[in-house]
Amino acid sequence: MGLLALGTPLDWENAKQRADQVRTLGIQQLLEIWNAYRGNERDILLWGDEIEYLVIAFDEETKNACLSLRQAEILEALAADGKLRAAGGGVPELQDVLQEKPEPLPTFHPEFGRFMLEATPGAPFSLAWKDLLSVEPNMKLRRTIAKQHMAANEVPITIPSFPRLGTKGVFTNPYYPPTGPQSRSQFIPDECINPHIRFPTLAANIRSRRGSKVAINMPVFYDDNTPKPFNDPTIDYDRHLYPEDDDVRNGAAKEGHIYMDAMGFGMGCCCLQITLQAKNITEARTLYDQLCPLGPIMLALTACAPVFKGFLADVDVRWNVISGAVDDRTEEERGIKPLENNRWKIPKSRYDSVSAYLSEDPRLRPEYNDLDLVVDEDIKKRLIDNGMDERLSTHFAHLFIRDPIVIFQETLEEAPEGKADHFENLQSTNWQHMRFKPPPPGGNIGWRVEFRSMEIQMTDFENAAFSIFIVLLTRVMLSYGLNFYIPISKVDENMTTAHYRNAVLANKFWFRKNLFPPAPISNRNSPSGSRAPTRPVTPVAVEDEYGLMTIDEIMNGTGEFVGLIPLINSYLDTVNVDVVTRCELAGYLALVSKRASGELQTGATWIREFVKAHPEYKKDSVVNERINYDLMKAVEKLGCDGYLEGLGEKLLGRRDE
Ligand code: GLU
Ligand code: MG
Repeated sequence: MGLLALGTPLDWENAKQRADQVRTLGIQQLLEIWNAYRGNERDILLWGDEIEYLVIAFDEETKNACLSLRQAEILEALAADGKLRAAGGGVPELQDVLQEKPEPLPTFHPEFGRFMLEATPGAPFSLAWKDLLSVEPNMKLRRTIAKQHMAANEVPITIPSFPRLGTKGVFTNPYYPPTGPQSRSQFIPDECINPHIRFPTLAANIRSRRGSKVAINMPVFYDDNTPKPFNDPTIDYDRHLYPEDDDVRNGAAKEGHIYMDAMGFGMGCCCLQITLQAKNITEARTLYDQLCPLGPIMLALTACAPVFKGFLADVDVRWNVISGAVDDRTEEERGIKPLENNRWKIPKSRYDSVSAYLSEDPRLRPEYNDLDLVVDEDIKKRLIDNGMDERLSTHFAHLFIRDPIVIFQETLEEAPEGKADHFENLQSTNWQHMRFKPPPPGGNIGWRVEFRSMEIQMTDFENAAFSIFIVLLTRVMLSYGLNFYIPISKVDENMTTAHYRNAVLANKFWFRKNLFPPAPISNRNSPSGSRAPTRPVTPVAVEDEYGLMTIDEIMNGTGEFVGLIPLINSYLDTVNVDVVTRCELAGYLALVSKRASGELQTGATWIREFVKAHPEYKKDSVVNERINYDLMKAVEKLGCDGYLEGLGEKLLGRRDE
């Protein structure tokens, strides 16, 4: 998550005075990059994934599973211990992988939570088949290496949200009382935040800018014995430590909801992200737009977050928790008060779904960009005046309506040329579900896009399957010239739908009905009628281009709609893939397909069933320490073995099928 820089961070009162200066320098840096790299051609197609882990510390005496706060020590050990890494972590089945591709090995990075780690492959993957097949072994290697640098009672697990973060009991190791000047939370101690000064400053400045603590309310799942109405029993209405303690007395917590009041609840969540390098800027813009409508679909399909703050929720995914956790908009910007000190009413948080397409693709009909987009007109003009086209200028002028949250004093004293720090300050704190990434100055990296909505999965088989699915889908998109455009407001609606419990099976999503390009003119009147002519000469009304579909229909197809998995399969039929590779890829695609059809469960459903079947579960929505301990043990076992006798089958199927 963003760049680390060392220096003296400005508190909000001072940072806000320098916001314009940072934006101006940021745009200067963007223009420098634009001018240097806009003409880049033939960058190699490369891609990589990012996996975020929680570090769990088990207490076998009290049978409690806690978040370990030893991120810094673990990262130090990882950085120092090259020997163990070179030895392949002592895992026999990894020796082959390492021999074939001995260097570079995975790298580990800090994340917001002091209980989190992030890992990426040491070098990007190519599109070569052997690279696709090395994804899962590489992910396993990362898990093994991470584990070997932890204490005996610690394990890395991959689950989007820690079920008991912010509960009244003991949920961190070591224990700290739930308070602290940065977040001022009632539930999470500041010690949960990565102590690198950027992160506490981010939390504190978001709170200060907003003028209150963040307020996240996720609907509770009402079970037979859940008190109705549910009023979050963990809230202390009488605390008078900080002015923000008034928030709950002023109605910050909603009835029927689990209430969370700190950045850590959101940025303590884990995801699976894919970054793709395109051959040039045009292709990157196409990928950004075409992958955009897939964001909510893949969020629902990877749903794995049904428990927050010790309660079963009535949502299956993390997204809105993070969105609320970094929502730094003032009351004016949120439309609660008339505009007086702020420039705009802003409809969304900094972490939210994409609000505009950005390609110059002729297939992008103006009707698709149907949201009232807030842009900084001065910035837009400056970009256009300096040669950037209207659409891309609009994109960046939209991102730059935000304030820089963390400014290091020293960076304002340095020459901005040849760097991207001020640009990245805004860019990397706009956490939208796609990110368009210009090349960093001075390197040989091309234009990239990041696909950011997916939830981390409990096993590397699943993480590899969803990563490979996205990568193959981009190949099919580009080779067949597929068109996924729907109005962006429909992508927003889908994002809301993706949160619903079991949305993957129970809900329908807006999706484009015909993905294929129109046939060449000569074919249009051909009586023999190849299957190509699909669009009449007069373009269909935008409303007729899309309809509501289940994820099963989207992925597996119907009589009328081709389906993404069959499309990928027919693409694989046309390229040269050896039988073994084809078979392995089929295994990954089958997982995605079966998730969509309901033959296999999402992680969210699997976790719900685990909780509900636990002897200590009282049908009151409460996930207590013991249930959580057993759940974390099961998740650890799933993550290590990739399979859990009996229980794992509903989630993963059998690999040898
Ligand atoms: N952990 C965040 C999520 O679950 C993403 C942070 C990042 O951009 O690395 O979406
Ligand atoms: Mg991250």
